[in-house]
Amino acid sequence: MNFMKRLISIQSKKDIPIQYQDTPIGLLFEYHNFGRPDDVYSNPQLLISMCMDNRKRIHIPDNFSFIIRTGGSNLRYSEFKVSYAISVGGVRHLVLIGHTQCGMVDLMSQKEQFVQGLVERAGWTRQAAEEHFTDSVPIFEIGNAVDFVLNETKRLKLRYSKIEIVPLMYRVEDNLLYMIKEDQ
Ligand SMILES: [Zn+2]
Repeated sequence: MNFMKRLISIQSKKDIPIQYQDTPIGLLFEYHNFGRPDDVYSNPQLLISMCMDNRKRIHIPDNFSFIIRTGGSNLRYSEFKVSYAISVGGVRHLVLIGHTQCGMVDLMSQKEQFVQGLVERAGWTRQAAEEHFTDSVPIFEIGNAVDFVLNETKRLKLRYSKIEIVPLMYRVEDNLLYMIKEDQ
């Protein structure tokens, strides 16, 4: 799938949309994409939602951000933690980071590997592993990674209307963060 047509490369501060410059969202790009030296924070500024995938690491200063990691950056089953970061943590900005080559895309194609892996490594019966997989796919399949974070953003904007929520993509091919063209 050609994601690049839908992504906006952020290579310098002028590429960051003006409304995000000098906000925690702009700063996230500065730290991660541009290697801005760490600033000192005593309170969290941001909530990052990203996939559990092992290939990704976000470069940010200590104390800068809460991070919720789930399969596919899916927050549908993590809303208490979102609410907590906002209410108790005090954050006003949330980024939903999807990524290329996400394993939560096209889960059905991974069924045999999933079932076999649970049987061999975790001691499950084949039947239990198959049921677990079948029950879970409708909940955790994200379809297309770009569309998924766009839709999650829409959904969460309705729930947290005063919070700035921005969908982003992480390309595992270059380890950089990208904006998404939202007009597709
Ligand atoms: Zn993923």
